[in-house]
Amino acid sequence: MARDKIIERVFEELSSILGRRVSRDPVDLGLHAIDASSYYFIPKDLSERYVLTVPKDAEEVSEIVKIAGKHGVSVIPQGSSTDLSMGSGSISITTANQIYMLERGIILHTGMMSSIEEISETDRVAVVEPGVRIDSLNEALAETDLFFPVDPASARAASVGGAIATGAGGLRGAKYGTMRDWVLGLEFVDGLGRIHRTGCRTVKCRQGYDLTRLMVGSEGTLGVITKAVLKLWPRPAAISRLMAVFNDFTSLYRFFLGVRRGRVPLIAEYMENRVADKVIRTLGLGIPAGHTLILDLEAGSGEEAEKLLKTLEKDAKDAGAFYTATATDRDRSFEEIYRFRRSMYAGMVKMKLKRHIIFEDTAVPISKLPEFVRRVREIEGKYGREIALGGHLGDGNLHPHIECDLEDPEDRSLAFKIAKEIVIEALKLGGTSSSEHGIGSMKLELLLIELRNKGSEHTLDLMINIKKVFDPKWILNPGRVIPTEPGRKI
Ligand SMILES: Cc1cc2nc3c(=O)[nH]c(=O)nc-3n(C[C@H](O)[C@H](O)[C@H](O)COP(=O)(O)OP(=O)(O)OC[C@H]3O[C@@H](n4cnc5c(N)ncnc54)[C@H](O)[C@@H]3O)c2cc1C
Repeated sequence: MARDKIIERVFEELSSILGRRVSRDPVDLGLHAIDASSYYFIPKDLSERYVLTVPKDAEEVSEIVKIAGKHGVSVIPQGSSTDLSMGSGSISITTANQIYMLERGIILHTGMMSSIEEISETDRVAVVEPGVRIDSLNEALAETDLFFPVDPASARAASVGGAIATGAGGLRGAKYGTMRDWVLGLEFVDGLGRIHRTGCRTVKCRQGYDLTRLMVGSEGTLGVITKAVLKLWPRPAAISRLMAVFNDFTSLYRFFLGVRRGRVPLIAEYMENRVADKVIRTLGLGIPAGHTLILDLEAGSGEEAEKLLKTLEKDAKDAGAFYTATATDRDRSFEEIYRFRRSMYAGMVKMKLKRHIIFEDTAVPISKLPEFVRRVREIEGKYGREIALGGHLGDGNLHPHIECDLEDPEDRSLAFKIAKEIVIEALKLGGTSSSEHGIGSMKLELLLIELRNKGSEHTLDLMINIKKVFDPKWILNPGRVIPTEPGRKI
């Protein structure tokens, strides 16, 4: 096969700056060509079309972007590739109707930009590079009385840069919100290679337009994040954790509403009976499967946490729970209960083997959850296709899992149709199509539907124009968040 002249030149120019931190090795590229949502698609001619780069700082990122711009090659920023909307490492772009590949691309992996530059207990801020993993930040904070509250279930792997770029949330979303609530300032490189510094190192900050907020959730399409100033928070003194298993969603929901009266649980995670059953089998646990709620409540002391658990357990049983488990954060079983929730995704993927899972990311107002669940069940019955439900009950963000063979065009289009129907029902109930995973390439159509539903289709033009200002050459993660520039081949 003839070598691609443009990629040859890009490789040479990048090598002169980054040395051995540039690769066209098919194994290196293969490992970085996919994300958690696109593991099926690895193009065969990877090294003909793509280059992997591992920069060390913002200046190197700027040089990479400038070289990409000079040759009209895309740049795909990448943290830990746990993206679930086909937005990160994945070179393939998947929509309901087609799967296509970026023509040429530079994968920009932030793995070597992983230092925690500063932790200030007095100011309650951390200054970190984008490759720092969320759990690593919390490990570094273990000696202090502070923590970083945003906790995607992937926190062990997910990078701060990726979490900012997706606007990630997590289990503690109901109490602490999402990344947009915790980023005070950013350093990023735009599509022309210019380094920008926005926001502040103080909690209050007015600096013209809030570009920091705009960057949060921009999914690598407006700039490459090279540093972040994050807000930190005092760790709860003690936590009571309850796992309660019910026969049906209605009883579980009623119990949850009771607990929520006058309180905001730290986490309130739901897993429907079929998902719980898969997780139990995957982990080899000897507990009964049912509609499962995992609840964390903050307490002022260990004694208070113990006392609270006794009341909670009794209330759960009174509400119909047929199995409960409890722990405070001082108990060993505390992490075991959490592991159960964290294994939801692994359990689903393992049980499905060759089938792919489309993870939807809908949220509806808490008051509409029972009606949403009812409508999802109706759609399931209509198509005879399993739609498993699980996720963050505490903020109304349930993740419908739809099984699907992405490589089979008919099956793929049916799965996307089902996903679309679910989203339309969520929108009718005042909800949203994407709560925390981002739009990626998977939800381009859903974003349009959502805007149309609000009578605000023209807002997409505004987004396209913002993209053009940040990235006039349209090289940063094209095909994500907004459709490709009309008429442009990527
Ligand atoms: C098992 C599992 C559980 C999950 N649970 C949750 C959850 O509870 N809540 C949640 O919100 N998400 C969840 N996710 C989705 C995902 O993990 C998060 O969105 C995560 O924050 C992405 O981080 P990452 O480092 O893997 O980013 P990547 O996948 O590498 O990238 C994600 C996006 O950010 C862009 N990007 C990455 N780094 C940068 C950068 N430095 N500058 C600019 N753009 C960048 C990429 O181009 C891409 O668009 C889960 C995923 C898995 C696999």
